[in-house]
Amino acid sequence: MRRKIIAGNWKMNKDIHGTAELIGALAGRLKDFKHEVDVVICPPYTSLVVAKSLIKDTPMKLGAQNMSQHDDGAYTGEVSASMLTAIGCEYVILGHSERRQYFQENNALVNAKLKKALAAKLHPIVCVGETLAERESGITDAVITTQVKGVLHELDDAQVAQVVIAYEPVWAIGTGRNATPDQANDVHKLIRKVVGQITGWTIAESLVIQYGGSMNAQNAGLLLSQSDIDGGLIGGASLKSDAFMTIIQAGVEASGK
Ligand code: PEP
Repeated sequence: MRRKIIAGNWKMNKDIHGTAELIGALAGRLKDFKHEVDVVICPPYTSLVVAKSLIKDTPMKLGAQNMSQHDDGAYTGEVSASMLTAIGCEYVILGHSERRQYFQENNALVNAKLKKALAAKLHPIVCVGETLAERESGITDAVITTQVKGVLHELDDAQVAQVVIAYEPVWAIGTGRNATPDQANDVHKLIRKVVGQITGWTIAESLVIQYGGSMNAQNAGLLLSQSDIDGGLIGGASLKSDAFMTIIQAGVEASGK
């Protein structure tokens, strides 16, 4: 049985004051939470230290939204894996489509970052997903296969077993247009099959594959109850405590099924 992970990607939202407010609202409501799913919040870098201390007595875990492929040195503006673990980060999102689109990240770079994240014992959440043009040209499966193989390049089985993959169709991110549960589940099955070709079925079967792309309080229940959807990576709706809590609850309910 795969354990679901509900992760909030706050993107470039919330300064330290907004961070404290949102964590405060979530912490109160997670008081009696029974840990049936893992809850991760990924605030901006500037909020990570304060967030770590604020989530201390809560079930929430901390993640970053990106990291460098380098260990240290003259890389102005970058943050390394060891800097993240030093402040208590447990997760890191890699290869988000906004990083790919606006910062020219490609599969090779995401693969390099992934190796560093694993070496630092961070749990990586690696994003893959097709654009609308790719879906409409009928090449979704080919695009996803290339991305999965590319980001996992030269990882051994034990390393792949540590990876969380987030399927995030680019056309669904921040658009209010989510993939249907069937569309998403089909791609999740494909991802599992491709990983199975790399590692064998035992590891592929236990791989956590999140869905991301306009998941909200209304559609989370159906998406999270699909056979191969093991959680959500949530952008906009993770900024509102009510909506994020409803999604967490949907994850808990889907886990009990
Ligand atoms: C995301 O940024 O990973 C995401 C899925 O955003 P949204 O939920 O806003 O579509």
